[in-house]
Amino acid sequence: MGKLILEGDFSLLKGKNIAVIGYGNQGFAQASIMRDNGLNVIIGNIKDEYYKKAEKDGFKVYEIPEAFERADVALMLIPDEIAPEVYKSVEGIIMKKEGFILDFASGYNVAFGFIKPPSTTDVIMVAPRMIGEGIVLLHKEDKGYPVLLGVSNDYSGKAWDYAKSLATAVGAIGKPGGVAVMSSFEEEALLDLLSEHTWAPILVSAIKAYFDVVTEKYGASPEAAILELYASGELAEIARAMADVGIFEQMKFHSTTSQYGQFTRAEKYYDMLKKISEEEAEKIWNGEFAKEWTLEQLAGKPVLNRLWKKYTESKLSYSESSLFKVLGRKK
Ligand code: NDP
Repeated sequence: MGKLILEGDFSLLKGKNIAVIGYGNQGFAQASIMRDNGLNVIIGNIKDEYYKKAEKDGFKVYEIPEAFERADVALMLIPDEIAPEVYKSVEGIIMKKEGFILDFASGYNVAFGFIKPPSTTDVIMVAPRMIGEGIVLLHKEDKGYPVLLGVSNDYSGKAWDYAKSLATAVGAIGKPGGVAVMSSFEEEALLDLLSEHTWAPILVSAIKAYFDVVTEKYGASPEAAILELYASGELAEIARAMADVGIFEQMKFHSTTSQYGQFTRAEKYYDMLKKISEEEAEKIWNGEFAKEWTLEQLAGKPVLNRLWKKYTESKLSYSESSLFKVLGRKK
């Protein structure tokens, strides 16, 4: 377990000007925690609602180029689709600053070559496995969270130390529940995308197929099916139990009928799913998916828009709306 780091300190970052670029989901969370830790944090954002929110929260806020001018360290906490364009607009500033520290919260853009920082920069990654809101809640309870660390360019010879310091500064390690894994931009991108290309869509598809079969062929009530599938919250409890006691140990919380059904069917599906995982992993690793997604974005996201329409206009979606209305849930 030599790749796991539980403890750290952020003395290396003390006295440095740290610019958080993007005051969104991650930006708000990481900036607030670093400020609580006594670090010099400024925000870089385009002039809009998030800019005003950051000002209201008491931060010094600048337009993105000015924030880079003022910073020794910058955390790129803007959506991955936007980051290359924003990076291009500040590349000249970064080039002039020998030893600049540039951090990313995801491996995507550096791993696939959409952002290529100069060799005079320390390029590090602190990628949380947690949404910003969750990070803030854990911080309030004085708890940490998991992050993957990476270094793609070590100009100073201290880039890994900077990554560990930043992981401590943003409240990930040095607290109960916190762990950093020494990883890489490429590994993070593979792990993140492969979840999005395998088990997550398989789950969505399995839920939809189950729903269509029981309601269309067996006359089951849509409400009963949706409650069974996910609206009861049991799915979330199973996921929680997996994180707490382990993927197989949590099986003991289910009846032996359930255990038998789950293990025998897992056996049946494994070979097919392993093949899918291999194919999808290859497409990620060789950059094929990154190209596919770039072309989709350039075309104005026609496939994504068509699929949003298809799924939100499905019987499952309409039935869920009716059920959630009765239950008073958000939709
Ligand atoms: P958000 O969508 O929450 O970030 C929004 C921020 O980006 C806002 O400040 C927004 O400004 C700014 N932004 C949007 N468009 C532009 C633009 N054209 N030019 C300049 N700034 C812009 O992003 P996340 O926090 O979700 O993601 C940030 C990074 O963190 C990504 O690399 C992501 O992969 C990673 N990450 C995210 C996680 C998550 O839970 N969301 C978990 C782990 C990692 P405005 O809206 O004011 O335009």
